[in-house]
Amino acid sequence: MDGRILIVDDERYNIQVLTDFLREEYTIMAAKTGEQALSAVQGPNQPDLILLDILMPGMDGYEVCRQLKAGSNTMHIPVIFVTALDDSDEEVRGFEIGAVDYITKPFKPIIVKARVRTHIQLKQKTDLLDRMASLDGLTEIPNRRCFDTTLRQEISRAARIGSYLSLILMDIDFFKRFNDRYGHASGDNCLRRVAKALKGVIKRASDFVARYGGEEFVIILPGTDQDGALHVAEEARRAVAKLGIPHADSEAAGHVSLSLGVVTLLVDQGVSPVDLIEKADLSLYEAKNRGRNRVCSLQE
Ligand code: GH3
Ligand code: MG
Ligand code: MG
Repeated sequence: MDGRILIVDDERYNIQVLTDFLREEYTIMAAKTGEQALSAVQGPNQPDLILLDILMPGMDGYEVCRQLKAGSNTMHIPVIFVTALDDSDEEVRGFEIGAVDYITKPFKPIIVKARVRTHIQLKQKTDLLDRMASLDGLTEIPNRRCFDTTLRQEISRAARIGSYLSLILMDIDFFKRFNDRYGHASGDNCLRRVAKALKGVIKRASDFVARYGGEEFVIILPGTDQDGALHVAEEARRAVAKLGIPHADSEAAGHVSLSLGVVTLLVDQGVSPVDLIEKADLSLYEAKNRGRNRVCSLQE
């Protein structure tokens, strides 16, 4: 089985013993202090499970666990405490602060392996479920639910630092006619290709594209002013045109095309998701009105 385990123990010998049990099946990371453990989980390779010694000089295991459970990007990592046999009070305390299990010293290989396997499997299934719940089944890009969450987060972030936030709302032109002429399966396939093209347009790590619904897509551009957003929108329009998917019944172009509405706001505390979406929607409506296959912003 795949999986990454962080072993935290101040005794090199304990790390070695656990590593020997587990390294055939898992990738092992080790930390000798609480501080090292907390910095290891911030790295690019987050562990799927942490085996955490309680008694360590400096920051003890309880404090490490408490900090892990308080961090929004580390709270989901399961922690198993490693305790000495006669410490049942300590086990209770460990569970109280969020550990999922405990393993007693001296280690029994079968017990260590069984408990580790159970929690790694659970973690990986939970991760999979989280991923599936946020992705659109047809296009495999983030879905509406994920968009709603992301937009709320980006608005809060932008309000905190007082920065620009841009939104691009996109709608495929005459898509009903496309389905009518080429069939629903071709329609589905077209949606997949459009989604992929849009994914190729966003460049920064914080840019975000989602399927908003039906034949509508949306891009969030944090920290991007209106010129930047208009530029990305025009690239998106071109990327979809370049797919060259024939659409004989479109009055906007001979191929599948997008209409795009752009909004940019300098975000303060008063801005809500609805504000942004409504403004982008008005711009999109204007793009449709002016002949489709174009980018429009009512702030121009
Ligand atoms: P407009 O240019 O004004 O946007 O016209 P339109 O035909 O694109 O807009 P309308 O809202 O009338 O139709 C949207 C169509 O998108 C209707 C629906 O069948 C199609 N559609 C929505 N979701 C899907 C999907 O998941 N798969 C397929 N194949 N078609 C879809
Ligand atoms: Mg539509
Ligand atoms: Mg449409």
